[in-house]
Amino acid sequence: MTNKRNFDVLHDGTINKSVGFTKSEREVLGLQGLLPHSIASQDLQVSRVMASIRRKGFDIERYILLSSLQDRNEKLFYRVVIDHIEEIMPLIYTPTVGEACKEFSQIFRAPKGFYITPDDKGEITKILDNWPEKDIRVIVVTDGQRILGLGDLGANGMGIPIGKLALYTACAGILPHQCLPVMLDVGTNNGEILEDVLYLGYPKKRLQGQVYLDLVDEFVQAVQQKYPRALIQFEDFLTPNAYGLLNKYKNQILCFNDDIQGTATVALAGVYASSRITNRSFADLKIMFLGAGSAATGIADLMVKALEAEGLTTTEARKRLWFVDIEGLVVASRSDLMEHNLPYAHKHARLNFLEAIDSIRPHVLIGATGAPGTFTEEIVARMADINDRPVIFALSNPTSKAECTAEQAYTWSQGRAVFTSGSPFKPVHYEGNVFRPGQGNNAYVFPGLGLGAIMSDASIIPDELFLEAAFTLSQLVTIQDISEGALYPRLTEIRAISLEIAVAVAEKAYELGIAGNQRPKDLRTYIEEYMFDPRY
Ligand code: NAD
Repeated sequence: MTNKRNFDVLHDGTINKSVGFTKSEREVLGLQGLLPHSIASQDLQVSRVMASIRRKGFDIERYILLSSLQDRNEKLFYRVVIDHIEEIMPLIYTPTVGEACKEFSQIFRAPKGFYITPDDKGEITKILDNWPEKDIRVIVVTDGQRILGLGDLGANGMGIPIGKLALYTACAGILPHQCLPVMLDVGTNNGEILEDVLYLGYPKKRLQGQVYLDLVDEFVQAVQQKYPRALIQFEDFLTPNAYGLLNKYKNQILCFNDDIQGTATVALAGVYASSRITNRSFADLKIMFLGAGSAATGIADLMVKALEAEGLTTTEARKRLWFVDIEGLVVASRSDLMEHNLPYAHKHARLNFLEAIDSIRPHVLIGATGAPGTFTEEIVARMADINDRPVIFALSNPTSKAECTAEQAYTWSQGRAVFTSGSPFKPVHYEGNVFRPGQGNNAYVFPGLGLGAIMSDASIIPDELFLEAAFTLSQLVTIQDISEGALYPRLTEIRAISLEIAVAVAEKAYELGIAGNQRPKDLRTYIEEYMFDPRY
């Protein structure tokens, strides 16, 4: 029970229950007269919030409503999110969060995270003292340079760490006060934003080169000093910086990059699960990627580890994976490739996308281009000629950017495609069957992975932990899911899914000797008991 009284109680979102306060609580906390007479159960409050949300005309208004609720009554906010996860997740995360970021400086109300600018150089440890919580366990940090598919949004990208951490709490029960959203506001090169008088961020061109890296490093070191048990999740950095920072820190501190490793884990889980539909073993698959950027390369890199775990050599594993980008098949003779493409640049003739499919005959096609419509009818039909059950992932977000729609995938393959997308698609009716396209949503993995990592006090997150998370997720796909053609379990099960992943990940951390505490006798109960429960 709190020491606060009267309006101080109602204005503290971490304890406020509003009309949910009981008669005796109202007496003890001095709330008589400050609330209307009726006492509402939390369930009733949830219904009231849902009715308000559904009454709004636009998703951005729903986002603002939910954001205010999070400030005002945290427990109620999380009850709403958890109880209606399929409806609410797209409002507090993609796609609506993209719109919220674009309008961040216009819709800004209460601050929710920590901002660091170049002016704070040399002072980051000191200013972190201003954050009231001392036991931070999960930090999501961005520099706003590559927000979703929207590009450089500068400090407006703060919506991303806020949204991701809300999912950490809703999906995996990380305690809200142990979460810290961070914006490394190093400026923006987005001219439109710089000219906006309402822009709230650091109104200068981006810091680059060594000074940029030094500021990031000062932040990372400050976190090690202040919150040595915190997991740092890097989010929405520009691809070269994303790789640079990940490679620099991944063997030193507890961190990962969700765009690279989280996406990879979810995609790998989907491919594992697809084997249960196609009856073709994972180790035998040939996989082709359209797009050779950070998402696709991250997926391929993890798949190499997964294939190695099946007994293949690195060279054999890489040969299973083929890339096509805007210039065609990625082959050794090309001189325009980036470093991360080189391991997958096999000796082969230069071919266009369709020719490459005919020549390589992949079982799985994964699109991560940001280019809508690139899986044409001809491409899907050709995959269906080659495979009884062609596996097709159209990962580009938002829905409007998908390489093809769910309906196109099913129609163009005469209902034989095993389809997954990055953004949600509604179930599709095709010739008397109903298909439920799975969504390769990173939220299946990062909350549970993070929970497992912090519960075991892991020192780093090696690839084995991502493989463990992917395998665990694929095993949670039910016979019912499979019969509907879905490669992921239902999001409504996300709390149970995150718990399973957390247990598996923590178990692996103990096995690998990277855990920082002693394995509790009953690991599952230990983790379950930690998880935030938003019920009053
Ligand atoms: P990126 O910019 O690093 O890479 C994009 C790649 O696509 C480049 O190799 C580019 O050459 C290629 N490309 C672009 N247009 C093409 C075309 N018409 N034909 C062939 N290749 C083309 O971007 P990224 O970070 O790799 O993200 C790519 C997409 O993946 C984004 O749309 C993003 O939404 C999506 N993504 C999805 C998830 C998810 O579903 N979980 C996670 C991360 C990224």
